[in-house]
Amino acid sequence: MTEKNFSYGFETRSIHAGAAPDPSTGARSTPIYQTTAYVFDDVDHAASLFNLQTFGYIYSRLTNPTVAVLEERVASLEGGRGATGCASGHAAQLLALFPLMQPGDEIVASKKLYGGSITQFSRTFKKFGWNAHFVDPDDPENFRKAITPKTKAVFLEVLANPGGVIVDVEPVAKMAHDAGVPLVVDNTLASPYLCRPIEWGGDIIIHSTTKFLSGHGNAMGGVVVDSGTFDFTKKGKFPSLSEPEPAYHGLTFTETFGDLAYTIHGHAMGLRDLGPTMAPLNAFLTITGIETLGLRMDRHVQNAQKVAEFLEGHPAVSWVSYAGLKSSKYHSLAKKYLPKGPGSVFTFGVKGGYAAGVKVVESVELLSHLANIGDTRSLIIHPASTTHRQLSPEQQTAAGAGPDVVRLSIGLENAEDIMRDLDVALGKTVK
Ligand SMILES: *Cc1c(COP(=O)(O)O)cnc(C)c1O
Repeated sequence: MTEKNFSYGFETRSIHAGAAPDPSTGARSTPIYQTTAYVFDDVDHAASLFNLQTFGYIYSRLTNPTVAVLEERVASLEGGRGATGCASGHAAQLLALFPLMQPGDEIVASKKLYGGSITQFSRTFKKFGWNAHFVDPDDPENFRKAITPKTKAVFLEVLANPGGVIVDVEPVAKMAHDAGVPLVVDNTLASPYLCRPIEWGGDIIIHSTTKFLSGHGNAMGGVVVDSGTFDFTKKGKFPSLSEPEPAYHGLTFTETFGDLAYTIHGHAMGLRDLGPTMAPLNAFLTITGIETLGLRMDRHVQNAQKVAEFLEGHPAVSWVSYAGLKSSKYHSLAKKYLPKGPGSVFTFGVKGGYAAGVKVVESVELLSHLANIGDTRSLIIHPASTTHRQLSPEQQTAAGAGPDVVRLSIGLENAEDIMRDLDVALGKTVK
């Protein structure tokens, strides 16, 4: 599907964007190009590929035709200019920041992030000399206050993991732009079906495609989408993009590639030198998953709403944090940013704290006790004893993962069955 066809609706692009019947065989579904390398026509062709003068395939660490279909599809669904597929959501976060950061630079990030992201930013990225400042996103002003001349990006999840929290992204985007830096949004929990952050000022969108995009809990992956509208040449803040690159004979990405500079840098520098490439099989599974994204997300949201309402009325439950509930302080932000529903990942508190939380996850039978979200299957976890256990107690509570918190990722089963399973498990906490 070529760019002129991008006026097709979301569901149509979910199925067709980036893909076409295979020109040599007619295969209708995207083939898994399970190859590491690609034959050159001749030495001149090889040279022009290596010099980035011709688009084409050299080696699958940089580009692969199956991964390219996924990249074009997600870019289309997010309303972006281009995308870089990679091995996981964490790889996407690394690749997203890599073109922006130098040692000593800073990012300002929401405190309400996936626990693994907080660890990645606060510990591992520190070893590159990248410093993260975490702020409470409930007041957008906190982002502005934390921005310094060394800040190179603002990072947030509109709909935040572990759940129920929505960030008012529009004013934060404006603050980032006033400071001359891009807003990077992790849109994993919403998926582009429920929210398209570029429409609210987001510049770079990342996904763990492992979750709702692939949708079946069977393929790891990540993607970085660039809106193509952020000016990386302003104020000389991003020399990796706007100054000559010695590794490509002094080529300047912004000058040579214009609004594709960030995406081409993602492949030609990020994937080439850091190496977290997506496997073609995982790209294939994710492309297949995306074909049903809208249908699945509608059902995820319907089921989540039913389960959240059921839990809110349950005597063993002290609170439910789901933005689809009128009791949520994020209910009005949900209507603005996620009008089709605030996803299917949310948290609730069990009366009886840590011990009761452990009891619930150990008592469910239909729900799976595991560390993932965005599967067809309903999933449950007790963050304080698992995903968020590396964080300090203060960080746990700040991230919405205190001792009594149970996180759900509501799947596509019959909603009555999910509620019955939770009811039986919750009954065991009060005995
Ligand atoms: C899972 C997740 C990640 C990390 O993705 P992986 O594919 O597991 O590396 C990042 N952000 C959010 C919101 C996630 O849910």
